[in-house]
Amino acid sequence: MKKVLGIGLLLAVLIYALPVICAWLEAEEPLPIPQDKVAADAENTDLNAKDGQLSAAGRITVQDGQEMREMELETYVADVVAGEISPDFPVEAIRAQAVAARTYAVYKREAGRPAQHPDADVCTDPAHCAAFVDLAVQASARWGESAEANRSAIEQAVQDTAGQIVTYDKKPIIAVFSAAAGERTETAADVWGSEIPYLQSVESPGGEGCPKYHGTVTLTADEVRERAAQTFPAADLTGDPADWFKASERSEAGGIITVKFGGVRVQGTALRTMLGLNSTNFTVSVQDNRLTFTTVGYGHGVGLSQWGARYLAEQGKSWRQILAHYYPGTEITSLEV
Ligand SMILES: [Zn+2]
Repeated sequence: MKKVLGIGLLLAVLIYALPVICAWLEAEEPLPIPQDKVAADAENTDLNAKDGQLSAAGRITVQDGQEMREMELETYVADVVAGEISPDFPVEAIRAQAVAARTYAVYKREAGRPAQHPDADVCTDPAHCAAFVDLAVQASARWGESAEANRSAIEQAVQDTAGQIVTYDKKPIIAVFSAAAGERTETAADVWGSEIPYLQSVESPGGEGCPKYHGTVTLTADEVRERAAQTFPAADLTGDPADWFKASERSEAGGIITVKFGGVRVQGTALRTMLGLNSTNFTVSVQDNRLTFTTVGYGHGVGLSQWGARYLAEQGKSWRQILAHYYPGTEITSLEV
């Protein structure tokens, strides 16, 4: 294996995939990728694996809390879309989100059930699989008077793209998405350490529409020391805080891949988790013994940017064009029952 995801980094990814309860604003890191799995899955996931039939159509088993629910794939996709994106987004952006969500669900199902839920293909924990809002029972509580219109908009977008998934080399892709990339998307290699041909860095205009595109977190030097004592005990934070961060290695998209922190080289994703930042694309300034971290973008920034998709849709791009942009080299394939 070329690169192994350290436990710390895996935790970082998992922790940062935290609740997407409030839909698109919180939508983020829906897909922690277990790095030891990516390579194997990429080899083993084959749409045509079962007697020449595309095995992805039909139903999916969802672990919802302690309950196992077998449901129509398309129903599940609509529920994920409801959890991941605002129904106010342009229809082409919602369609793109629907296809990305369907693709990821199919990818997960084809890849086999994980140890976290051995009796289900996917779960409703956004920290592990994808956000989920049960439209049949939660729409009213979620949207009040707009419930019917919003539910209808989402279900229509799902229906418009029914059975369509994104494929690379005839296999469903790992269709990761996040709320808002920076000016460019990140590569999977820079964020998770695995080279994936269709998760490369592409331009991503429009992310600044996201209310959390620009963010700041300010911590006292002591607060940073406390956190670091847990996460990076070897870091030497005895000196001037202005000297704590050095020699950052940034991706083409601007995210910190690694940086020397208190003399120890650490992953940008792990620092992001420790500091509670919106992205790994950050700078730090120090004043009066307080450190201010300024971020660009919201989420891991790999794959589809939801706010970028919104922008492209507003520019007249179709869902196919949006997906082709964010997952370069891929195709759209129809599942068959
Ligand atoms: Zn899961």
